[in-house]
Amino acid sequence: MSIETPPPPERSDFIRDVVAADVAAGRVGTVVTRFPPEPNGYLHIGHAKSICLNFGIASEFGGRCHLRFDDTNPVKEEQEYIDAIEADVRWLGFDWGEHLYFASDYFEQLYDWAMDLIGHGRAYVDDLSADEIREHRGTLTEPGRNSPFRDRSVEENLDLFARMRAGAFPNGARVLRARIDMGSPNINLRDPVLYRIVHAEHPRTGDAWCIYPTYDFAHGQSDAIEGVTHSICTLEFEVHRPLYDWLVEHLPVPSAPHQYEFARLNLTYTVLSKRVLLRLVNEGRVHGWDDPRMPTISGLRRRGFPAEGIRDFAAMIGVAKADSVIEVGQLEHAVRDVLNRTAPRRFGVLDPLKVVIENYPEGQVEAMDVVNNPEDPSAGTRPVEFSRELWIERDDFMEEPPPKFFRLAPGREARLRSAYFVTCTGVVKDETGRVVELRCTYDPTTRGGDSPDGRRPKATLHWVSAAHAVPAEVRLYDHLFAEPFPGADGRDLFADLNPASETIVRGFVEASLADVPVGETVQFERLGYFCPDPDSAPGALVFNRTLTLKDTWAKVQARG
Ligand code: ATP
Ligand code: MG
Repeated sequence: MSIETPPPPERSDFIRDVVAADVAAGRVGTVVTRFPPEPNGYLHIGHAKSICLNFGIASEFGGRCHLRFDDTNPVKEEQEYIDAIEADVRWLGFDWGEHLYFASDYFEQLYDWAMDLIGHGRAYVDDLSADEIREHRGTLTEPGRNSPFRDRSVEENLDLFARMRAGAFPNGARVLRARIDMGSPNINLRDPVLYRIVHAEHPRTGDAWCIYPTYDFAHGQSDAIEGVTHSICTLEFEVHRPLYDWLVEHLPVPSAPHQYEFARLNLTYTVLSKRVLLRLVNEGRVHGWDDPRMPTISGLRRRGFPAEGIRDFAAMIGVAKADSVIEVGQLEHAVRDVLNRTAPRRFGVLDPLKVVIENYPEGQVEAMDVVNNPEDPSAGTRPVEFSRELWIERDDFMEEPPPKFFRLAPGREARLRSAYFVTCTGVVKDETGRVVELRCTYDPTTRGGDSPDGRRPKATLHWVSAAHAVPAEVRLYDHLFAEPFPGADGRDLFADLNPASETIVRGFVEASLADVPVGETVQFERLGYFCPDPDSAPGALVFNRTLTLKDTWAKVQARG
């Protein structure tokens, strides 16, 4: 796999070409797709790619997209996941209307079809253990061997399968297998398992069943029941397609869906596997499925990523037939693009250093007019209180500035954004020698941030008034993994976790930020995009850093 530069955004790809051709040739009337999550975890950004593809195609071709839960493994599935998945798909901006389905709704029909296969001698009950089945399966270079139970009579198979359903056998005692070809070069056709015994409570069917269909048996038949025309999935299912087709061909299903495969999304510095994400949660490496460092939809939402940015990203990367890895910077670029247009600018100081303006009258307060969004004049301005004592960012000052440091330093003048020019006249230190306060003077003729004499300081700083700003906890996030390819070269995946992925600081933000609702993202000028965390409360504000302003992807593009 290589990092590739995807083509520019365009609304066509090999899957859309197939759909268009099917429609043009009259092979398909209404285009029907589906998004089929297994409710065994939360959705991640890879699923978002699949959601945008399936719902996108349905809407472009005037068809419909079903949300179907592939709930065939009760041991790992939970109602919590079902609820979260529905909320996430909706938040991404997609609507399945009345077409919400569950594979478990088809259990009775699937059972009947299994009996039908048995009746035609196309399936049999096998008593081999899972290990023995594996051992009989052969390898890529060697054919498999027939199970000694392969030639059971139809009557015996019907009876045994009915007893499997009735709960006569413990977990793993028997399975139902398709009777296809143990010598097939495609291992998926070597008598694949169709049903296994699992005595477990199912989130929807409770204890009605103790046998459950495998993905292979449930999926295509569910597609056929729903009239899905294009069953779009990721490349790992390509080798399952002959089985998908075999079942559709040999069962009296009401329609004949086709499966198409595309490359799953992989992102640098990110792991997209529910199994791994579940481990991160269970082992306490993150605070939960919606931890803002997680690549889950709920994590990205909590982090402040707008749904529009995620949809734009999906459109930008397109759909390909070969696996690749996308730079996570590209996702961030798409998100910055949206936020740059839409996020109001605000002042927040994350590492506060006190500034006292000695010639500014004590007790005086001015409301400075500050632009809300230079990208959007209609966003207007807002008043921000200015007074004698301010907070500025500690790293906007250096006592002994090196040649390329243009911000505040002793004797130097800088502009406070939309306020005044100030000149540093003195430094106050504590007993350890740390600078704790700057003494400054201001030039009253520079109100609003311009000087009548045309003087132009080299730096413009953000600030908040000490008496008016509100304290806030700010959670600074960085990539969850420190390596672009986590776990590569045989490394332990979790050894690649980024120890600096979450840093908590305490700063001050302008008073208006107390009212930003959860779900909105603002720009702290010069620092990045931030959003209130659901943990935030009046008097105890908490903000998450969505992204810094530095767009590495845009830079790569410019260089390329
Ligand atoms: P994971 O591999 O993360 O455990 P999964 O494939 O087991 O995911 P499902 O709930 O079965 O998760 O996935 C639902 C749909 O989302 C499937 O059609 C699957 O192909 C698709 N999908 C899963 N991961 C990705 C990905 N990284 N990129 C694109 N599509 C994906
Ligand atoms: Mg799966």
